[in-house]
Amino acid sequence: MQGRIGRIFSDLFSKLKGKKKFVSCHWLEHGIIFDHANIIRMCCEQSHEGKGRYILDDKFNGIWLDIDKIKSEKEILKLKVRNGQIPSCCKGCQFLKNDYWDDKNYFSHVLLTHWSNCNTRCVYCPAVRDNSLSDENIYNIIPIINQLYDAKMINEDTYFSIAGGEATIYPEFDKLIYHLMTLGIHKINFNTSGIKHSHSIEQAIKDNIGEVVISIDSATAYLYTKIKGTNTFQVVVNNIKRYLEAQQIGEKRVIVKFILIKGYNDNNKELLDWFMLCLKLGVKKLAIDIDIAWFNEFEHGYPNYVLDLILFAKHMAKINNLDLDLYDRASMVYNSYKANKKYRKLFG
Ligand code: SF4
Ligand code: SF4
Repeated sequence: MQGRIGRIFSDLFSKLKGKKKFVSCHWLEHGIIFDHANIIRMCCEQSHEGKGRYILDDKFNGIWLDIDKIKSEKEILKLKVRNGQIPSCCKGCQFLKNDYWDDKNYFSHVLLTHWSNCNTRCVYCPAVRDNSLSDENIYNIIPIINQLYDAKMINEDTYFSIAGGEATIYPEFDKLIYHLMTLGIHKINFNTSGIKHSHSIEQAIKDNIGEVVISIDSATAYLYTKIKGTNTFQVVVNNIKRYLEAQQIGEKRVIVKFILIKGYNDNNKELLDWFMLCLKLGVKKLAIDIDIAWFNEFEHGYPNYVLDLILFAKHMAKINNLDLDLYDRASMVYNSYKANKKYRKLFG
């Protein structure tokens, strides 16, 4: 009941602020991605029918951003959703939701992934598969951040996600993070291999303004090396410990991830061992996803045991009082299971 009343007030508040209700998503409305190869995108979502990753600019010079061009590219899709049409790139995307959206121009979500090299070679990495990890086309993003800030396209409430390649190996990395902090940015998500410790990540965790996601995918040096291509299991475990030590009591800012990979770790034993390792380390928040190439094979439905593994992880998290996030593809499998269950309940 309270939830319903809360929703009524929130809807009323949104209407008073001039927002309108229609199906859209936060990346479509207010998102921007600085991707590899001088490409600017609207989002990086690609596990659905429409395949997402809409290109806003494919010739960004890395020096000055044509904000008006980006705005007008986005306007085309924004107009569509305001007219009740789903853009073809968004078809089937789980991030679409019927909600209240404003008409203002700003970025609430920024993903920096304009570098592509890495200090490991994961078997599931699309860039490793394409042999496209390189130092080419890297530019200094700090002046672009300043340009966006001065144009009031971002502010201290903007959510920043930092990915790559591996972000920590680039010389500008710590400088960039401290610069974001100086601007008052207080929601920063780091995706890192965890091989190189970063004092700016540690500081962001300490200050409660950042969270780090490390995909270790295993619980033994043997399996880790097989999956990641580097013999750095213990280094990563030690860095997870260092980040956990920086975390304030009650916070959940160190997230350890497990990507399910066919033929490597797609069984209860590996999942349970990873779970026990995380428990031993004192990790409070976990995440699960599925290798994108494997997921793309699920055209005619996912194997039942994939769902069983996800349900097993959810159960383990629940009885151990840990948070578990299901990332993109794991969430799609789980949501389709839930939808089927609801359908069966309704129609037998
Ligand atoms: S593909 Fe999905 S995440 Fe990307 S803009 Fe469309 S709805 Fe949003
Ligand atoms: S850590 Fe990320 S960028 Fe590096 S190889 Fe693995 S998936 Fe690719």
